[in-house]
Amino acid sequence: MKKAVKVKPLNFSTSWSYAPAPEGTEHVQLKDRYELFINGKFVAPAGGKYFDTINPATEKKIASVAEAGATDVDKAVKAARQAYDKTWSKMPAAERGKYLYRIARILQEKARELAVIESMDGGKPIRESRDIDVPLAAAHFFYYAGWADKLDYAFPGKRSQPLGVAGQIIPWNFPLLMAAWKIAPALACGNTIVLKPAETTPLTALKLAEILQEADLPPGVVNIITGAGATGAALVNHPGIDKVAFTGSTDVGKLIQKALAGTDKKYTLELGGKAANIIFEDAAIDQAVEGIINGIFFNQGHVCCAGSRLFVQEGVAKEVIRKLKDRISTLIVGDPLDKNTDVGAINSKAQLSKIKTLVNAGIKEGGECWQPDCNVPAKGYWFRPTLFMNVAQSHRIVQEEIFGPVLAIQTFRTLEEVVEKANNTPYGLSGGVWTDKGAKIFNVTGKIKAGVLWANTYNKFDPTSPFGGYKESGMGREGGLHGLMPYVKLS
Ligand code: ADP
Repeated sequence: MKKAVKVKPLNFSTSWSYAPAPEGTEHVQLKDRYELFINGKFVAPAGGKYFDTINPATEKKIASVAEAGATDVDKAVKAARQAYDKTWSKMPAAERGKYLYRIARILQEKARELAVIESMDGGKPIRESRDIDVPLAAAHFFYYAGWADKLDYAFPGKRSQPLGVAGQIIPWNFPLLMAAWKIAPALACGNTIVLKPAETTPLTALKLAEILQEADLPPGVVNIITGAGATGAALVNHPGIDKVAFTGSTDVGKLIQKALAGTDKKYTLELGGKAANIIFEDAAIDQAVEGIINGIFFNQGHVCCAGSRLFVQEGVAKEVIRKLKDRISTLIVGDPLDKNTDVGAINSKAQLSKIKTLVNAGIKEGGECWQPDCNVPAKGYWFRPTLFMNVAQSHRIVQEEIFGPVLAIQTFRTLEEVVEKANNTPYGLSGGVWTDKGAKIFNVTGKIKAGVLWANTYNKFDPTSPFGGYKESGMGREGGLHGLMPYVKLS
């Protein structure tokens, strides 16, 4: 009789290593100091204040950035109003479209430089900024450029008019892409803009301001002001804006909603999420594992639609968890500018401490925490991909948005049970279903209360497809035909 051979499990973290493959930075042009982009020019802030934007992977300062105060916000809103009244709203729609096409093409020409800056300023792996953020940003401008002179077809039988001046506030997880999501449809519909990027990632928006100059966009049509929450609040509360478009946390979204109550400003809010990724026993397990990894570890989990709750049907739970651990052990955590990196740096010290607080709460509440045995650089903000097993619906780790690479795993037996659990959250932004059965996909996706549901895939974006949430995940849609709606009055 043959003796059973005991196979030593592979230690993935040491089974291979890659030589470093850093992306070059020589072609990147960055100034030491960035001013506010108002009325087509870079101007110093009235208060003379600046803040540092740092590289979260090295903790080194990249540039000083102007802090806009109330006077600057006022100046930017007035410039946008003047541009709206005198130029943009009077321009034939096809001409507006030409500017959008031009911006899209310049974004493509400068794609590599923008990708590198995005990774330096925000910490995301260059593979993502190069293959996802920047191409999608250009695609959004191309897509909405096409709509500019076809609004009559977008809203058949109605006449559309722009709203006026839009105040747009964006977060740090997809800085350039969020700017494109906001700017392109607003301009296509004939509005002018004051945009505020997040304080930890202002650089690609400021590079975009240079691109707008290069595209000869008339002065004041897009103004880009930098600063933190106070600057955002001054913009929201300025009486000269007609619309607020905000993407960020649910807490700030609620503040904005309160500030706008009783005014006639329109608004759209894209807020937090706690998406359920559901794996049924009949799913293609290896594909599903890859999808879960992409769903939560993509961009360090800094994604409002991240699949941060995993529901696995009991019969395959052991297999899925084993395969997940194996796969996570192969992920490379480190230098965002290295083309091999899978998981980059956490965006800021504050975000890292928020992730740590919630993970510690998860451990205290009795969850079983697992992390791979990988090295992370000594300097910078890092968090290893993390799994939580044995968690309950009531645990903070299951209920609260972490916005980091942390996945809470629960099991289920029946479809009814998983639908109930998946919907047991104040959020409703996104979700995923993995099954071999088409009918089950329709059955489950019809019952999950979320704005975006992926089937047998995850985190796929396209400019033609609307995105947005239910419940505390916000209101209004961005992208696609739906994304035009928040920027027009119909009559
Ligand atoms: P996150 O958790 O993604 O950092 P925030 O909601 O704090 O989300 O930030 C998103 C954007 O909202 C940033 O540009 C930030 O500066 C801005 N912001 C923060 N506080 C306020 C506020 N009270 N009013 C308007 N904008 C704000």
